Amino acid sequence: MQAKLKFERNKIGSRGSSSLIIVCVTMIIILSSAVATDIIYGAISRYCLKMNAEYVATEGAKALVKSRSEAVEYMRKLSVSKVNDLNSLEINVSENDRQINVIMGKPFKYIFLRLIGISATQLRTNIVLKISGISEYKGVRPLAIERNKITFGDKKILTDASEKFQNYIKTQFILSKSDSSDADILYGIREKLKVGDRVDFIKSYDSNKIKKSIDELTAKCKHKPVCSYLQYNENCSKIIIVPVVNRSNEDNEWKIIGFAGFFIENCETVDGKIYITGRFLKFTVNGTIDDSALDFGLSGTSLIP
Ligand SMILES: [Zn+2]
Repeated sequence: MQAKLKFERNKIGSRGSSSLIIVCVTMIIILSSAVATDIIYGAISRYCLKMNAEYVATEGAKALVKSRSEAVEYMRKLSVSKVNDLNSLEINVSENDRQINVIMGKPFKYIFLRLIGISATQLRTNIVLKISGISEYKGVRPLAIERNKITFGDKKILTDASEKFQNYIKTQFILSKSDSSDADILYGIREKLKVGDRVDFIKSYDSNKIKKSIDELTAKCKHKPVCSYLQYNENCSKIIIVPVVNRSNEDNEWKIIGFAGFFIENCETVDGKIYITGRFLKFTVNGTIDDSALDFGLSGTSLIP
């Protein structure tokens, strides 16, 4: 009888300790999950802050190529609108406008860790964006412009005519692998072209056909209000990227020395010659950048890790 009682007591005791273990394990699981949730949530918030800083720097670079004074103010406003609870912000632009540094900070409030007394921490991110000339680009139009002093805002005429007149820029049409200048004008040359590449020019072509393609390209702009040099949609079909070429002294061949962005305003043909009126723009694109690339107004960006 006594032995049976002892057995029952042992049974109750072991049940009690099992329950305690289950409670402890459950508590540990709940606590670990809570800590893990806070850590993951913190990591996501830190990532979002970094993405926002990258966005601000990239948009800032677009503004910087046009105006330095407006770019910094624009980045400040953009940072405040993009990041909730932003409590520290530092924006630095290098003297030569080739580097942007954005440092942002915001508080992060823990959801569960505050129950054990850890209420908040400070998130911080530091982004450095480099701006350089474009050395390689895919999708250039087959209009190679001869090296010239490029100015921005002034009316220029790209032409294959041989006579010289005010604001003219000698232009030749590139022979690409696609063998279709119409497609190259409408969609850009499919191959990536880079600084140093030799270019061959089309010897004979129908200027009316080229004008038709250019008119077709510019007619694709359906933006409201209609894009102009001063106000345009950055993806407008009237904006083309063209290679700048120069005849090499070493081998007498035409080679690409850089890339420029041109806003087309009009296209005409007179006596079989083409006259494309427009203005050069300064803007950034997605392309390979190189510090040694010549500056014709077109630049690209990359983050410095
Ligand atoms: Zn447009």
